[in-house]
Amino acid sequence: MKLVFDEKLISRLLLAGSIGIVVTLVVALGFFFIRQDIEEYQSSLKSLEAAQLRQEQERLIDQVDTAKSYLTFMRSRTETVLKNTIREQVDEAYQLAETIYRREQGKRPDAEIKSLIVEALRNLRFFDGRGYFFIDGMDGTCILLPTAPEREGSSLLDNRDDTGHYIMRGLISAARLPEGDGFSRYRWYAPGDDKHMADKIAYVRLFKPFDWVIGTGEYVSNVEATLQRDALDRMSTFRFAHDGYVVILTENGTILTNPLAQNDQGKRISDLPDTERIISETILTKARQGDGFVSYNWRRPGGNEAIPKISFVSRMDDWGWVLVAGTYLDDIQKEAARHHSELDQKVRDKVTLTLAALALGVLASMFVCLFFATLLRRLIGGYKNDLNRQNDELRKATRDLFLVNFLVDHSAEMIFLTDQDWKLIYANTYVFESLGWSRGEMIGKPMTDFTTPQGDWTGMEYSRFEAHLRAKDGSLREVEIGSKELRYDGNLYHFAIARDITERKRWEIDLARKTTDLQRSNAELEAFAYVASHDLRQPLRMVSSFLTLLERRLEGTLDDEASEYLNFARDGAHRMDRLIIDLLEYSRVGRVNKGMTEVPLSDAMDDAMANLRLAISDNGATVTIPDDLPTVWGNSDELTRLLQNLIGNALKYRGEAAPVIKITCGQDASGWRFAVQDNGIGIAPEFHQKIFGLFQRLHSGDKYEGTGIGLAVCRKIIERHGGKLWVESDGGNGSTFLFTLPFLDDAQKAYQDDGTTP
Ligand code: ADP
Repeated sequence: MKLVFDEKLISRLLLAGSIGIVVTLVVALGFFFIRQDIEEYQSSLKSLEAAQLRQEQERLIDQVDTAKSYLTFMRSRTETVLKNTIREQVDEAYQLAETIYRREQGKRPDAEIKSLIVEALRNLRFFDGRGYFFIDGMDGTCILLPTAPEREGSSLLDNRDDTGHYIMRGLISAARLPEGDGFSRYRWYAPGDDKHMADKIAYVRLFKPFDWVIGTGEYVSNVEATLQRDALDRMSTFRFAHDGYVVILTENGTILTNPLAQNDQGKRISDLPDTERIISETILTKARQGDGFVSYNWRRPGGNEAIPKISFVSRMDDWGWVLVAGTYLDDIQKEAARHHSELDQKVRDKVTLTLAALALGVLASMFVCLFFATLLRRLIGGYKNDLNRQNDELRKATRDLFLVNFLVDHSAEMIFLTDQDWKLIYANTYVFESLGWSRGEMIGKPMTDFTTPQGDWTGMEYSRFEAHLRAKDGSLREVEIGSKELRYDGNLYHFAIARDITERKRWEIDLARKTTDLQRSNAELEAFAYVASHDLRQPLRMVSSFLTLLERRLEGTLDDEASEYLNFARDGAHRMDRLIIDLLEYSRVGRVNKGMTEVPLSDAMDDAMANLRLAISDNGATVTIPDDLPTVWGNSDELTRLLQNLIGNALKYRGEAAPVIKITCGQDASGWRFAVQDNGIGIAPEFHQKIFGLFQRLHSGDKYEGTGIGLAVCRKIIERHGGKLWVESDGGNGSTFLFTLPFLDDAQKAYQDDGTTP
């Protein structure tokens, strides 16, 4: 299907396109903003969650730190507790020994008192039965050693522990004066283990009466174990937040305390069910690498579902313990879920808002687009009309151009178009036809290549000159060239028309020759007429004279008939004389050239009127003459003759009524125009030309005397002065003789140029 792009389709496309763009934009923007909101919200959610997690983690670290400081405190108390405890025991034993000594002093011998004391102390036990007292002499002799009585009496001065420390010597130096008591640290076989020694602290007091050292020792580990037990008891009740607690494991995987699973206490993690074992092992591995967090899923006590949990794992190196403080993350998750639903709601709101904006945008854009589409349709309509009109004009112009082109191309004149350097751009067909050159041979070449002499084609805006165009066969065409400059689109062109004037030239030469011949024969004829008429008057005057003489001689002898014959003869001679005078005058016009001067017509008119005065008064005629007769270029005698002849005729060819003659003068662009109007007998239209001929008369001599030469003389005078003479009359109501004369300046100029009249 072919699409026709009319204004309707364009405005529809605009409408659809604009709505499409608005929809796309709104959807894209909506999508972009919603997406941005979601991303922002999600990131804030994440940071919130992260913050909460961090908070939880900090709390866990805090709690573990608290537990650890408690345990460290407990551990730090070990020595103090131990020392206090053993000092208390030794002090009691000392009191006992002192009491016995005081009581028995002087009553029994020292040896007996010594034995009493030794035996009194021998069976005393404390620290759950593992504690006992020993007595040594300041010299290192073993006096009482309930755990190895066989060594009593022997010197233990060189007894050393596994570090090489002299145990007895340490005890003796601790009991030395001035203090007389003190603690001594050494190592001894751990209870139930006769292979490995463990740290032990002993407290000794100097029993001065016998220079004895009374003391007791305790393994540090024992006190530590007690304290650890206390600490673990305490830790099993330790809670933080609403369900936070601390689990303590040994580094090698024994569960020391688990507040929520008391049963697991003492178990090894390897005995736990698989899931818990794996997690516990992960925790232990983490602990071995250093403090840190472990995330995993763990069931809440009493619950079935495994819940995400995070624990902080920290080692307490002194005791080889691993502290695990955990918290369930379901609260954070719940919070996150709440935020998620909030986000959902927000996104829904945003989408609704976007949809509303979309609907609003589409609606608004529809209105705007409709408006613009209508506007556009109108504009396009107008534009189309303009275009159609322009097309029509263009078509017309093209047609005109084609026709003109055709006309130019087929013109019988040679037409050239050249560039500013006179190089030929175009020549019409006639050029090639008449010169014989082909188009290719001429186009692009300078015009001067085809001209002889190489005429001046340049310089003038419009120039006219004659030249010869060179044809291909070598012949020359004489042409008259008219050239004109024209500017188009900033470029200069020359347009030239060459007219072949070969024929005309020949014709002109011919004419000139004929004219010369004619002038010569005319002159000869005029000379002949003049000579003839002049010479004819001589014999005529003789005839008239002798007729007069004859009349006088025969006066009274002639009868009537003879007198009448004589009259006829004299009248004939007179008429012939008149005819000859007129003829002489006709031939004299232009011949006796008195030269042309400025002639005030009023003067000529005055002369004519003076000559006619008698005839005017005889006829009782009225002659009206304009006041402002011009001055013209001419011969004053001839102009007087002209006026005299015309006015004379108007008087002669009068009707019944007295003659009324009106002379008027006017002018138009070409010159003066005069009229001599009468109320005489008039001239029938068929004679309007004839009357200007020589000897042409419309009436017989009886009725109107005349020779038929007067008007011929008038026409000859007028033509010599560069004017025209004619008559207007309907044949009944008088006649008007009209003649023109050039303006003085024009006539003068023409006369100066070539001695002729224009
Ligand atoms: P003519 O000597 O006969 O007057 P013209 O050459 O003056 O010779 O005139 C030629 C003829 O023109 C006249 O014979 C006459 O018939 C006619 N004609 C000339 N002027 C007038 C006029 N004003 N009214 C009527 N006829 C005229």
